[in-house]
Amino acid sequence: MSDFIYFDNAATTKVRDEVFEAMAPFLKDAYGNPSSVYKLGREAKNAIEKAREQTAAAIGAKPAEIFFTGSGTESDNWAIISAAFANKDKGNHIITSNIEHHAVLHSCEYLSKNGFDITYLPVDSSGIIKISDLKAAIRPETILISIMYANNEIGTIQPIAEIGAIAGANNILFHTDAVQAVGHVPVNVVKDCVDLLTLSAHKFHGPKGAGALYVRSGVKLPSFIHGGGQEKGRRAGTENVAGIVGLGCAIELITREMAGESVRVRKLRDKIIDGILESVPNSQLNGHRDKRLPGNANISFDYVEGESILLMLDMKGIAASSGSACTSGSLNPSHVLMALGLPHEKAHGSLRVSAGRYNTDEDADKLIAEIGPIVNKLRAMSPLAK
Ligand SMILES: *Cc1c(COP(=O)(O)O)cnc(C)c1O
Repeated sequence: MSDFIYFDNAATTKVRDEVFEAMAPFLKDAYGNPSSVYKLGREAKNAIEKAREQTAAAIGAKPAEIFFTGSGTESDNWAIISAAFANKDKGNHIITSNIEHHAVLHSCEYLSKNGFDITYLPVDSSGIIKISDLKAAIRPETILISIMYANNEIGTIQPIAEIGAIAGANNILFHTDAVQAVGHVPVNVVKDCVDLLTLSAHKFHGPKGAGALYVRSGVKLPSFIHGGGQEKGRRAGTENVAGIVGLGCAIELITREMAGESVRVRKLRDKIIDGILESVPNSQLNGHRDKRLPGNANISFDYVEGESILLMLDMKGIAASSGSACTSGSLNPSHVLMALGLPHEKAHGSLRVSAGRYNTDEDADKLIAEIGPIVNKLRAMSPLAK
């Protein structure tokens, strides 16, 4: 393990030991169905309700406003599609941005094929929407605004409280995909004026396949998955008890440690950004310099493919990413980098390094030392660099 360095915490994170320990009983002896009346069932039910309290506390919500789902993707689909259909007699217009995660973009595409009209707000060269664009896009028939809290590729953080206030003043529902933000920057649904908020456990050292949607009390959101009466009839299906317990444990721990950890990780990130930009000519940072997630560094290198850098880093035992995990393997440049106005070749030559709680100063030193020679080698082979 010691010579393997994981710098892809935006794709997923390692489950913490404490989280694993908390989950283990529910995968073994505490296997009761939470809907059952006997003790084994009640124990599972109580564990879910504890996780609901932990989750609510982490984002300034009430436990009754938290609904567990199967993923961040499911929460995004549920929030957007159900909010749209529930309000279609009020209007058919939805505002989002063109740098959203595919869980949001593809949900909006689905809606656009079903009678809804979608406005995709552009972003500036640092990846932030313009408040004046948002205001100008609002129409009498606008029923939903969905803007992500922080971007998974470039780490840019949006002015969420400002967007929430505008949505509220215009009586428009506001959803935010906060999957990258929760546990990493302070998120508070009341201060941020959010109606619907998506989070996912595996982005903060919880298990995969466990997400949640915050639904502000009073917001009418029909269920998306139909069946039994679980989650107060709003999300059917026997609960992923171990996953939910893991989510609750992970969100409590990461929130408690956030103040200290975010300072440490931000220092690591800055060291990586400065170290690479100084040692590699013709490289540039993507996204906002300061309004970005503590762990995110996204850097473009002229004349080289991001994928080639990844393969060579992998040979050195370093795991990183280019664009998002969903984009890698495809030949399309990242929609996020294109939205920043980067030309095709720069959008292809980008490296995302996402640092997290298990990364050390030595990891950053190793990465910085390896990246220069790798880029030089690739440029030597590239006809474009001549
Ligand atoms: C990872 C991610 C998702 C998807 O969450 P899953 O739980 O993996 O489905 C959605 N939005 C953003 C911004 C993400 O980073």
